[in-house]
Amino acid sequence: MNRRKFLSFSALAGAGAVVAPQTAMAAVKSRTAERNANQPIATRILGRTGMKIPILSMGVMRADNPAVVRAAYNAGLTHFDTAHGYQNGKNEEMLGAFFKDKDRSTFTLATKGKANPRSDDFEQDYEALFNTSLRRLKMDYVDIFYFHAADDVETLTNPRLLTMLKKFKDAGKTLHIGFSTHAHKPAQIDAAISSGVFDVCLISYNFKLNILPELNAAIRRGVEAGMGFVAMKTMVGGTEDAEGHKRVNGAACLRWVWQNPDITTAIPGFTSFDLLDNCLQAAHSPQISPSDVEYLASLQNKEMLYCQHCGNCVSQCTRHLPIPAMMRAYMYNFGYKHPSLSKETLLELAVTGNECTGCMACTVNCPSGFKVAEKIAAITPIVNVPSYYLT
Ligand code: SF4
Ligand code: SF4
Repeated sequence: MNRRKFLSFSALAGAGAVVAPQTAMAAVKSRTAERNANQPIATRILGRTGMKIPILSMGVMRADNPAVVRAAYNAGLTHFDTAHGYQNGKNEEMLGAFFKDKDRSTFTLATKGKANPRSDDFEQDYEALFNTSLRRLKMDYVDIFYFHAADDVETLTNPRLLTMLKKFKDAGKTLHIGFSTHAHKPAQIDAAISSGVFDVCLISYNFKLNILPELNAAIRRGVEAGMGFVAMKTMVGGTEDAEGHKRVNGAACLRWVWQNPDITTAIPGFTSFDLLDNCLQAAHSPQISPSDVEYLASLQNKEMLYCQHCGNCVSQCTRHLPIPAMMRAYMYNFGYKHPSLSKETLLELAVTGNECTGCMACTVNCPSGFKVAEKIAAITPIVNVPSYYLT
């Protein structure tokens, strides 16, 4: 999207055309409101799940301080998002310890898990994985169980996967079924709609996306079919620059996301009280401002740390490396300042650190301007760093 189009889209939003309607923006009622009666956060409904949740939720992925979770809960956030793999299970354990004495009606929780539906032991492995998550969380059920990081339509619609997800729901282990994807491909959303199985989609969604018209249209089709949409990667990597020096204005990024009423909630991964405060300020004043629009427009054509996950590079690379996920690992380290997550991501890809060794000239031409070979050389050595050196 060029600067002119970006500004006109945002100006339309600023006028209220795509801001959530009053009914959907109703103030949080319930115990959340009691906890934070003076500053309610607007809520929206998550598709056919009927879950009414604040527009701001907590992506717990990188948080390791339960006091930050407590502060978010006390501030009126009710939805918390984790995954089986985050912090090698410690993330789920932390949430289990925090929520074990909380009234189950005061929060909703989503976790994610991934297994290969083409493997011989898939059913057994996937069930064991989910049971482990429930045990760590000290819960009989979660509100949403996502198939984690769907890469392609074939995997997402694999009959063995769909059967297992339905089995989890029928057994009451999850109230709703979802999938997460970094690839934000409209085709995945359409496949999920056709399957009739997925209630929720957790999707990368931010002002830098270069396929917004197609993606917004697909999200609309999903909403019309009853699906709910949750936004992640809203802060495009956390910094304004490709070097990871200057923190992005997260409040402006969130306000941009909330312009789309089809997005129920955003799950920024704040890890500290000041980042939480920044997100809360945005949630308490969610209307995008002219200065937000100007700020975001100034970043529109700038190289930052967010990889579009368009996948163009994979076929261009002589070795067909999983470059989008490697770029995500780069972002986790240099943008999020979370080297252990970066290492975890690369180890899942079986990266060794020698991926580009001996390749004489990089054949990848990234439309975002990423010098992928340089980024791969900078990030892959982390897989050989002992974990006790990494935060
Ligand atoms: S590195 Fe570039 S080409 Fe590859 S997925 Fe990311 S944006 Fe697309
Ligand atoms: S340098 Fe690396 S990323 Fe570039 S083409 Fe060679 S193997 Fe692929």
